[in-house]
Amino acid sequence: MSKLYCGVDIGGTKCSIALIDAHGKIIDKIYTCAHIVGNEGDLVSCVTQNIRDIIRRNGLHESDLPGIGMGCAGHIRFRDGVIITTSNLNGFKNYPLRDKVQSNFRIPVYLDNDTNAQALGEHRFGAGRGFDEMVFITISTGIGAGIIINKQLYRGMTGTAGEFGHTIVDPRSELTCTCGNRGCVMACACGMALPHLFEQKLREGKKSILELPPGFEFREINGEILKKGLDMDDPVSKEVILDSGYYVGIGIYNLFQVLNPPLIVLGGGLTNWGDFYIQKIKSTFYDLARDMIFDPVKITLSEIIGDAGVIGAAALTLD
Ligand SMILES: [Zn+2]
Repeated sequence: MSKLYCGVDIGGTKCSIALIDAHGKIIDKIYTCAHIVGNEGDLVSCVTQNIRDIIRRNGLHESDLPGIGMGCAGHIRFRDGVIITTSNLNGFKNYPLRDKVQSNFRIPVYLDNDTNAQALGEHRFGAGRGFDEMVFITISTGIGAGIIINKQLYRGMTGTAGEFGHTIVDPRSELTCTCGNRGCVMACACGMALPHLFEQKLREGKKSILELPPGFEFREINGEILKKGLDMDDPVSKEVILDSGYYVGIGIYNLFQVLNPPLIVLGGGLTNWGDFYIQKIKSTFYDLARDMIFDPVKITLSEIIGDAGVIGAAALTLD
């Protein structure tokens, strides 16, 4: 049998545990939501139990795997596997998750930021294959980046490199980020910005043709609703999507000037808005970068099929 790799993606609403093969294909996967209601210790037991189950039900032993890779949103210190902060789960301040899980296994356990893990997965199995350098950006409820330099993740001093979501694209914006700053790309462009952007347009007197049910609250505006709006040619939905693309485009331009990568890969739920959105990101980038691009830059969509989070987490155990 070809070599298998184990990944764990710890999200705010679900936790996935999977085995993948050497091509990044998911062989088996377990979903659980049990960890949301419990405390830190409950997450450790939940993850441990599910890893043991998936190993056993595939006729494997722990020693058949090179390790266990875990990805989690938030500020993660890779070197000692500590969750410094995460907004996805309650508690977990300076929590040594890696060591807690490690105490239940003999094979090495790794913990990294989920976007870093996805960037590695994209580099090893997806659009990044063959590139020495790339930046992966995920645009969903939040927005983040993973940076690959010389075929390896660049994590920075603490492990928080790639916190692209907190780079500022509009300091005079009225949109305040979860970090407290104004005009972070996360506050202006991703899922959490959409209700504000939508409401802003209506306040300016623009009319939406989206049929919103009575009692609908703007905070319910999300990527899916705007996709419907886009499909029915709703001017407000389209403007919000273009605003998001504009801010992401500025962010990518800034990244390009700092890192000069040959490849930028876009993933995450909001990329489902499709070409209308991606073209706005690209045109904003190319308008700003103009004649400062001296070699081809490829901006493309993620090629990871299925659960990018868990595939990325498993990729942490590849090398
Ligand atoms: Zn911020």
